[in-house]
Amino acid sequence: MREIIRLEPVFKQMVWGGAGLRDHFGYELPGEDTGEAWVASAHPQGDCRIAEGRFAGKTLSWLWKEHRELFGGAKGEEFPLLVKFIDAKEDLSIQVHPDDAYARVHADGARGKYECWYILDCKEGADIIVGHKARTKEELEQMIGKEQWEDFLNVRPIHPGDFFQIPPGTVHAIRNGTLLIEIQQNSAVTYRLYDYGRMPGGKPRELHLAQAMDVIGCPYVESEGATETFHKEGYDRTFLAACPFFTVEKYVVRTALSLSQEDPFLLLCVIDGEGAVDGTEIQKGDCLLLPAGYGTAKIKGSLSIVTAHI
Ligand code: ZN
Repeated sequence: MREIIRLEPVFKQMVWGGAGLRDHFGYELPGEDTGEAWVASAHPQGDCRIAEGRFAGKTLSWLWKEHRELFGGAKGEEFPLLVKFIDAKEDLSIQVHPDDAYARVHADGARGKYECWYILDCKEGADIIVGHKARTKEELEQMIGKEQWEDFLNVRPIHPGDFFQIPPGTVHAIRNGTLLIEIQQNSAVTYRLYDYGRMPGGKPRELHLAQAMDVIGCPYVESEGATETFHKEGYDRTFLAACPFFTVEKYVVRTALSLSQEDPFLLLCVIDGEGAVDGTEIQKGDCLLLPAGYGTAKIKGSLSIVTAHI
C-alpha cells in the first residue's frame, strides 16, 4: 500500500531560542524561547508522533520497531536520522560531537553525530563557527585552556542557501540570527567547550573539556563537498551531501516534480511554499516519511523541499 506518513514536530525550548520558527513556518510554539523543531525524530528526548492514517498517535520509534518492512528492513536498533529546524536568537554554545566509535565507549553505547546544515535565512552580516585554527594538539589544549576563543575559532560569514558539513570532531557553533535545517545522525551526544559564561536558571550549563579535547580533529580539515544544481523542467535539484550516514538533496519545485523513492525510506521536509504530494497537501514546516517501495511521488505546487535518506 502506498502511504504517506506525516510526522508532528517536537519543540525544544532553549536558552538561545526565540520565536523565529513561528514567524517562518507558522508553528504554534510552546514559548518565546523555542530553539528547535525536531521534525523527523525517533530519539527518546523527542519522539515524533504520526499525525494521521492507520498509525495516528503512534511514535516514529514505535513504527521503526514494529513495522520495519516500511523501512525496507533497514538494520539497527534505532531509527538512524534526526532532522531539525533550528532558530538561533542567541549564540549556541561552542561544541563538538564524537564519532560512533568514541560514543559507543564513552557515551553509553550511543551513536556519534555527523551533522550538516542548510541555511534557510539569516540576518545581514551573520556568521557561523566551523573548525578551528590550532595547528597542533598542544596549541589546541593551550588555546582552549586559556580561553583564547578569538584566535582559536574559525568564523565564517553565511548567507541563505549556504551548506556546511560537520563531521564528528569538528568544533562548531550556530550563531545568533540564523535559521537553518539540520540533518544528523540520531544522537544527542554533545561536548560543550564554551557557553559564553551564561547562567540559565542561575547556574552554568555543564562543560565537557576533557571529552572535547579527545575528539577534536587537529589540524582542522575543511570537508565541504561541492553542491551541484541541475535545472529541469518544472524544478531544480541540488545535491547537497552524501556521507556514510545520509544523503541530502534540495528541490525547488516551480510546477511539478516526479520523485522516485527507491530507498529504505525518504524524509521530505518542506522548507518553503506549499503544494501536494500525490494529493496530500503540504506546506512549509511539514515533514513526511515516504516508506520503502513507495515508488514515484508526484509533487505539485510552488515549494522548496529538503530530502534525506540513508
Ligand atoms: Zn552540533
